[in-house]
Amino acid sequence: MSAPYPWLAASWQRLLATRARPAQALLLAGPRGVGKGALARAWAQALLCEAPQPDGAACGECPACHWFETDTHPDFRLLTLQEKIGKEGETRMATAIEVDQAREAVDFVQLSTYRAGFRVVLVDPADSLNLAAANALLKVLEEPPLNTVFVLVSDQPRRLLPTIRSRCTRIEIGLPPVELASQWLLEQGVDDAMNLLALSGGTPLDAQRWADGTELDERRGVLEGLAEPERLDPVSLGERWKTVSPQTWHNVAYKWLADLLAVRLQGSVRFNRDFADVLARLGSKADLAKLLALARTQANEGRTLAHPLNRTLQLEAWLIQYRHVFD
Ligand SMILES: [Zn+2]
Repeated sequence: MSAPYPWLAASWQRLLATRARPAQALLLAGPRGVGKGALARAWAQALLCEAPQPDGAACGECPACHWFETDTHPDFRLLTLQEKIGKEGETRMATAIEVDQAREAVDFVQLSTYRAGFRVVLVDPADSLNLAAANALLKVLEEPPLNTVFVLVSDQPRRLLPTIRSRCTRIEIGLPPVELASQWLLEQGVDDAMNLLALSGGTPLDAQRWADGTELDERRGVLEGLAEPERLDPVSLGERWKTVSPQTWHNVAYKWLADLLAVRLQGSVRFNRDFADVLARLGSKADLAKLLALARTQANEGRTLAHPLNRTLQLEAWLIQYRHVFD
């Protein structure tokens, strides 16, 4: 098996070269949307494969590969955010990896392995470990049992406990070169590769996601509303936009505010090139302190994208604050 994405080829080779003696605690760090999670899974599979290829990559055909690909390998654990059932019966994603999950993983690595090879624990996103979970894991990271490999994945490695970070061998996965990313997007059938790459800050997997969904239409609707703060009606827009997913809303609003700041401070647009004229006009009118305050709130909100209880009210409050930026 080759690297999951072409821009990961060098990191992939670097990992494979260590297959005989892999780092027992590995941290894959870098921006979101560049394929760190896929790289971590490919690495886990390579370690668990029982008939690896000469370069160390997984064969894709042995029983271990089959189990891995069907999420049933007995020597593999994934620690990730789980779906929860809320008070009103709705499902939502947990905002943290809980201590129970970490304890289960700690117990798991202290058992003997089912097969003769490695045992792998993948933690993704590792920055979502809550403090108790991180502390539980730290104990085994300090002295990992034999043949045990931890792979941590994070877009925000600074949010990890320093004691965890310092235990890990770190591999940085950067943004791919634009030509490589746009070439790959074209091969996936994405027409507007350059604009979508700009919109997603250079991350190809986010660009692909934009191209796939209804999100582009939703984005346009939201931006057309935000383009005229002097005329926007928070109540009716809050009602209209409540169906936009929290992720899409956050993505669109965050980048809009970032562009307003960029226009205001540097005179250039980074993400929303198709709205450059509007941004230039608004950027010059914006109250910088209020804009910074709103952008900071928005950045924090990105950490907790669960559905709030009253979406409409939350959007209304945001829109009122947004309107005041241009008073
Ligand atoms: Zn295999």
